[in-house]
Amino acid sequence: MSGSGSGSVHVALLPSAGMGHLTPFLRLASLLVQHQCQVTLVSPELTVSFAESELMSRFLSAFPEVNQIQFHLLPFDTATANSTDPFWLQFEAIRRSAHLLSSLLPSLSPPLSALITDVTLISSVIPVTESLCLPNYILFTSSAKMFSLFSFFPTASSSASLDAEILEIPGVLPIPKSLIPPLLLVPNSLFANIFMEDSSKLTKLNGVFINTFEGLEVQTLEALNGGKVIEGLPSIFSVGPFMPCEFEKRDQLGATLKWLDHQPAESVVYVSFGSRTAMTRNQIREIGHGLLRSGCKFLWVLKDKIVDKDEEEELDQVVGHEIMKRIKKQGMVVKTWVDQGEILGHKAVGGFVSHCGWNSVTEAAYHGVRILAWPLHGDQKINAEVVVMSGLGMWVRSWGWGGEIVVKGEEIGEAVKEMMGNESLKTKAAEVKEAARKAIDVGGSCEVTFRGLINEWKSNN
Ligand code: UDP
Ligand code: UDP
Repeated sequence: MSGSGSGSVHVALLPSAGMGHLTPFLRLASLLVQHQCQVTLVSPELTVSFAESELMSRFLSAFPEVNQIQFHLLPFDTATANSTDPFWLQFEAIRRSAHLLSSLLPSLSPPLSALITDVTLISSVIPVTESLCLPNYILFTSSAKMFSLFSFFPTASSSASLDAEILEIPGVLPIPKSLIPPLLLVPNSLFANIFMEDSSKLTKLNGVFINTFEGLEVQTLEALNGGKVIEGLPSIFSVGPFMPCEFEKRDQLGATLKWLDHQPAESVVYVSFGSRTAMTRNQIREIGHGLLRSGCKFLWVLKDKIVDKDEEEELDQVVGHEIMKRIKKQGMVVKTWVDQGEILGHKAVGGFVSHCGWNSVTEAAYHGVRILAWPLHGDQKINAEVVVMSGLGMWVRSWGWGGEIVVKGEEIGEAVKEMMGNESLKTKAAEVKEAARKAIDVGGSCEVTFRGLINEWKSNN
């Protein structure tokens, strides 16, 4: 694609499915706007969840200068995808339609300086950017540690290292096999297929953005950028932590924040397992008992279904009437979308029971809120390891993967009490917050990275 010649920078972003992917994309888009880039958002016509369409429309109203183009996805036979997860099926639908970008992108004006797509789209987007001579970047939506596994995966698979009890990735702290996302070890699962196909093409990219910072993952970042993990990787830009933005706030959520306003400083434990992790009824009830036993005040967000469109039952039915009565005296429980950025930044919140979705971890880091890690699926144990190693939180490893066992209320209560009472975690979380703020301050690593990139894109024009 020929340059604009005028020195202006125009970047297109193509996110994938789920709030865990869309949210960091929109935060990255708003950073690019702040740095005077023109931004085009390529968005699939239909989203999987209500939360995604709601966030997208908030973003577009807050940034009228951002151009949106709808991306029509081709129908495909989901039986051929080796997954039943609605978000993974959407990843696959986008992958299978990505070639359509070849005719969509050249019509944009001014001509594009770069395309930033989701990590799950690498191999399907490369032929497009190569034919258009367009610089191709990805936003990796998990930790740098998870990225080290991603980039090392083809080497590990070919050398049978994945069979060992501990995976040794050069320059990175060893990863016990028990931390590796189980589906990665299932041959032919959609997850393993996409991982394998995409990771072997990383060297063809112009760069990789990761929502992380040195205060959280210095060793891994140095190993990746120092060529230790694999040779020929493009630059890894740590541009985090992404801050929750103004456009994400929802007005009607006053109730949780009002409740927090009446609680003493740092007395409340916030409990949430992200946007797409549903717990079994048994586990939900044990969590309720556990929180009561902890003796702490709590704000608990629960989900009964993976996709919000499927939620049907009332809170009382899910939690149980009896326990609900007791909960109301000690805490607050909701089954709606909450404003997590605001909650983690509230002075009443002292701790976070989190599944360690990467956005949640970086939001906690940004606000200096200590974590009790309870990873359940996918990349979450790898992220939990980062939480522990950075000092931001603790993790009861015996709780296993989601659904493996029902963790008893007694254990949950003890762990919550320990996390809330642990002074050294509190101090360490405050240090992580300081490092996070430094990274995104004026003249910090984030700004330096964007300035450098924008200059490079301008000079290519
Ligand atoms: N989130 C929120 N309110 C909710 C649930 C989730 O604001 O009720 C946000 C959370 O702050 C984070 C994102 O949704 O930005 C979830 O991403 P994460 O990577 O933590 O986990 P995932 O949902 O992908 O498992
Ligand atoms: N899942 C979930 N939350 C997540 C990731 C996955 O509820 O953040 C569900 C998903 O819908 C699927 C199952 O957990 O049905 C397994 O998903 P995953 O890809 O994480 O496989 P795992 O590695 O946990 O076996």
